[in-house]
Amino acid sequence: MTINVLFSASDERWANYRAPFEAAFAAAGLDVAMAREFAPDTVDYVVLAPGGGITDFSAFTRARAVMCLWAGVETMVGNPTLTQPLTRMVETGLSEGMREWVTGHVLRHHLGMDAHVRRSAPVWEQVSPKLARARPVTILGLGVLGTACGLALRGLGFPVTGWSRSPKSVEGIRCLSGPEGLEEALRGAEVVVLLVPATPETENLMNPRTLAMPARGAHLLNPGRGVLVDDAALLEALDTGQIGHATLDTFRVEPLPADHPYWHHPHVTVTPHIAAETKPEFTAEVLAENIRRGEAGEPFLHIVDRARGY
Ligand code: NAP
Repeated sequence: MTINVLFSASDERWANYRAPFEAAFAAAGLDVAMAREFAPDTVDYVVLAPGGGITDFSAFTRARAVMCLWAGVETMVGNPTLTQPLTRMVETGLSEGMREWVTGHVLRHHLGMDAHVRRSAPVWEQVSPKLARARPVTILGLGVLGTACGLALRGLGFPVTGWSRSPKSVEGIRCLSGPEGLEEALRGAEVVVLLVPATPETENLMNPRTLAMPARGAHLLNPGRGVLVDDAALLEALDTGQIGHATLDTFRVEPLPADHPYWHHPHVTVTPHIAAETKPEFTAEVLAENIRRGEAGEPFLHIVDRARGY
C-alpha cells in the first residue's frame, strides 16, 4: 500500500527537498506519496521543520512517527498533542557543517586573524600565535556535533575537554559529565563551545557564575541555542574582559532584533543561525531508512527521549 508522507515546511524547503526525497524513497524500494496536504487521518509519517505550521498533532491518528528535519527539537518535545514517536535529524552534512563553522571560528581567534584582516594602518608588529597545543578548548555537549567538533579540534592539536550529561569516553578527549563536572570542564578553558540542546536543565548554562570559570579573555562560541546564555551576564563579562569575544550563531529571538546590543558590540560576532544546516541529499537517506524501519516494525533511528528533552 502507498505510504503517505506529509511534508510540512517552507516553500523553499519543499523545492529543495522534494526531488532528493523522492529519489531516496525509490532507491529504498518504498512506495511513497509525499505531499504538503493530506487528510490528517490518512498520513503515515509527518516530516516537518519548526515553523512548518503544525502545532496540533492529535488529528494524525494513523501517523507512525513525526520526523523533524532539525537536530534541535525543543519547540516540539513538550507538545502534549505530539504523542507519536518523534525523531530528530542526524546526518553527515550537519556534522560536517558544524565542524567547519566551529574550527573556522576557533582558528580565527587562536591565530589572531582579526589583527591582520582588519588592519587599517601599516604596522609591522610580529606577534606570533602560540601553538594549538597550548590553548585548551572545552565543548559543553559531547553528542553527535560536539564530538565531531572535538575530534576535529583535537586533530589540529588543541587539548579538548568535553562535557555531557552521562559519562562518556572519546579517545583523545578529556571527558567530564554531570553538574559536578562542569566547573572542572570550564576552569582554565581559553575557548568554550556550546553544543548542548535547549532543555530546562541547560537554560542559562552560561551565567555569571559559569562565565567566570574559563580563563580570562576566553572566546565563547554558541552554535547551540540562544537560551543557553544569560545575555545580560555575557554582555557584562564581555565589558569586563572576562570573556574576550563571543561568536554567536543562535539567539533567544531569531532573527536577532536590529536593536540588540550584540549587533554593535566590538567583541561580538553574530552569524545568522547558519552554523550547520540539514542537507537534502543526506537527510533524504536518513528519512527513507527510518520509514523503511517503521514499515518493517524495526526501531527508528535518532528517536527523541521525551523525558530527557532531546
Ligand atoms: P546530541 O547528539 O543530542 O548531543 C547533545 C549533548 O548534550 C550530549 O552529549 C548530551 O549528553 C549533552 N547534554 C544534554 N543535556 C545536558 C545537561 N543537562 N548537562 C550536560 N550535558 C548535557 O545533539 P547534537 O546533534 O550534537 O546537537 C546539539 C545541539 O546543537 C542541538 O540540540 C541544536 O540545538 C544545536 N544545533 C545547532 C545548529 C546550528 O546551525 N546552529 C545546527 C544543528 C544543531 P549525553 O551524551 O549524556 O546525552
